[in-house]
Amino acid sequence: MPRRPRGQGAIAPVTMPAHTSQPGGGSARCVLITGGAGFIGASLVRLLLERGYGVTVLDNLSAGRRDYLDGLPVKFIAGDILDSDAVGHAVAGNEAVVHLAAQTGVPGSLADPRRDCEVNVLGTLTLLEACRVEKAKAGRSSNGPSSHGPRGPRLIFASSNAALGRQTPPASEDKAPLPVSPYGASKLAGEAYCLAYQGSWGLETIALRFGNVYGPFCRHKNSVVAQFFKDILTQGRITLDGDGEQTRDFIYVGDLCRAILLALESCISGEVFQIATGVETSIRELALTAQQVTTRKLELFRGPARPGDVRRNYSSIAKARAALGWEPETSLAAGLRATWNWYQASAAATDPCGDSFAAAFRN
Ligand code: NAD
Repeated sequence: MPRRPRGQGAIAPVTMPAHTSQPGGGSARCVLITGGAGFIGASLVRLLLERGYGVTVLDNLSAGRRDYLDGLPVKFIAGDILDSDAVGHAVAGNEAVVHLAAQTGVPGSLADPRRDCEVNVLGTLTLLEACRVEKAKAGRSSNGPSSHGPRGPRLIFASSNAALGRQTPPASEDKAPLPVSPYGASKLAGEAYCLAYQGSWGLETIALRFGNVYGPFCRHKNSVVAQFFKDILTQGRITLDGDGEQTRDFIYVGDLCRAILLALESCISGEVFQIATGVETSIRELALTAQQVTTRKLELFRGPARPGDVRRNYSSIAKARAALGWEPETSLAAGLRATWNWYQASAAATDPCGDSFAAAFRN
């Protein structure tokens, strides 16, 4: 079983090596990020701006936060992924779309499977339709100068290991998907529609199945890392679900965003990639590493096990390594330290007097 070394490796900055494939003679390309005010979006927006891209964000702020983008030169459109007018307006003129907007969790999908389906399946369909219209427009104007050529916008779809469902690890692209939650089913449907639009209309699409992502800008999230840090700040202790020996594949958001950028810049389409680290980490090991990073003496509590919790989960990333030339670079300790630093800076900015340091993280 591969285990992540507990090293104190250097943090991977959210940057890329030299730009290799920038069509348009080096001029900035324009990218739409749906859900760009969310956790992953906040880091991705920064990476793309740093790389010279023009960035538009479409977000209804149902989960994300406008202040994550404060001071950044982005065009922000407050709108819903189900609103075809808003989506068409947002897509127009962009050469690529990264589709992050979603109902993002299994619990939400269990509470309201219809809503999960609407946002994740119909929302993706609405976006694909807008891209198809944009591609048709580009095709009609391909005799004259076109901002994005007849290929139309290229779409990178944020999928999840949940689409694969219950599998013997490692999760890999060649395994038949067996989703066990409505969320997994809706992500699998999104992947299928991306492939169908490639097959039927030649729209360039890639689906990336993310592992468990962690990093800065996760204040609104209920992921295990976000929850641990909130618990540390507000309760001074960490509660494990069950014995904490269940495993996951934790990927630092900076590494993930580099994978998204490589997918954006590659010529590959009609493919699915697992994007994680290939390293299996138990929740107990995660808690102990978080404890080291915060240098706080914390109590570890054993809470009730979550019903239906998958026991082991990690991904094979061989395909992404080979086809995208991508490699995760951030050790768990380094990524958790960056996340913890962000939490502390964010709390200080929220309340410089520190009076409600903990209260800042209760929402
Ligand atoms: P997030 O909730 O922080 O970001 C999602 C963003 O989408 C939010 O800003 C939210 O306001 C916006 N949004 C939600 N519904 C919308 C709608 N109907 N119209 C417009 N905007 C809407 O979540 P995240 O963790 O950044 O996830 C981004 C994507 O990555 C999602 O598609 C998610 O399913 C996928 N993903 C995330 C993880 C992870 O560990 N974070 C793992 C696998 C897949």
